[in-house]
Amino acid sequence: MKKRNIKRQLIAVLSAILILITIPQFIFAQKKANVVILATGGTIAGAAGTGVQSGYTSGQVTIDAMVNAVPDVLKLANIKGEQISNVGSQDMSFEIMLKLAKRIAELTAGNAVDGIVITHGTDTMEETAYFLNLVCKTDKPVVLVGSMRPSTAVSADGPLNLYNGIAVAADPNAKGRGVMLVMNDWIHSAQTLTKVSTTAVQTFMSPIRGLIGTTAYGVNEYYRYPYSKFGAKSEFNVDGVTKLPRVDIVYGDVDMSADLIDASVEKGAKGIVIAGVGNGNMNKAALDACTRASKKGIVVVRSSRVATGNVGRNVEVNDDELGLVASADLNPQKSRILLSVALLKQRNLKDIQRLYYEY
Ligand code: ASP
Repeated sequence: MKKRNIKRQLIAVLSAILILITIPQFIFAQKKANVVILATGGTIAGAAGTGVQSGYTSGQVTIDAMVNAVPDVLKLANIKGEQISNVGSQDMSFEIMLKLAKRIAELTAGNAVDGIVITHGTDTMEETAYFLNLVCKTDKPVVLVGSMRPSTAVSADGPLNLYNGIAVAADPNAKGRGVMLVMNDWIHSAQTLTKVSTTAVQTFMSPIRGLIGTTAYGVNEYYRYPYSKFGAKSEFNVDGVTKLPRVDIVYGDVDMSADLIDASVEKGAKGIVIAGVGNGNMNKAALDACTRASKKGIVVVRSSRVATGNVGRNVEVNDDELGLVASADLNPQKSRILLSVALLKQRNLKDIQRLYYEY
């Protein structure tokens, strides 16, 4: 009798242990996030003849091949992939960017998708990231990943970047942090990141405002939320938009000619961004051309070719008098994106200046 009782108690205890072990696993398995990868090309999808040559071609490898190279990602999330384009990001276009924005809106509308990863070339990644940060309304993680070495290289950086990017996209703690870029263990905000090296693996930096967080083999740590407006709080909308207004960037340098500014006006630009010297400065000839353009209703934004720092209003240039806009902390390429999106609607200069402070 006693023996039978002990046996029963033993079975009960073992069953309880078994349930305690399997239930959390079951719940965890149920809760695996659904992540969609939107592939656009870039070096991460690039291939070379050998593992040790510098020459290669971007956008050769498909999304399926990239995921197959990192089978461990399937432990992080349920993955689906879609090929949006397969180009080196020097050939990224507003058309592809608008297609991406539309697809992200569709995918994130319901409950079926928890996060998005976009594979992208690094050359113009900051433009696409910043554009999506302005126009995507979702608070779900949208994460861009790329690589500096093609998939065939010795020590290719793409697979781990993809793994870490998926880990961030699948992470509920990444929600509400805007569009991010994950490369080389760092999580950047679209608003702050910039490419600083033509070849180094550690090419992205977020000067002054710093990182959103870090990730190491899929273990994520977050430091902050973005300071600028994005997502549901963004006032921009590209639903139904098929084309963005022309905005040109003119590089400022010593003894610069005003011809390129005048040519831009003649060619029908709606906006011009000057990659000025120092605090968004330029010589008198260029400033006169900008004033002429402004008088014709073309929006002229003063940004800077300098890597870090704010371009302040009315510092060495009297923006109020000349009818110009200061880019605040946006570099020329992001200034161009903001102006292109802003000019989808009629706005006065005061309103455009406000956008540079808020976004
Ligand atoms: N030219 C390539 C691209 O932007 C470079 C890279 O991806 O790193 O697509």
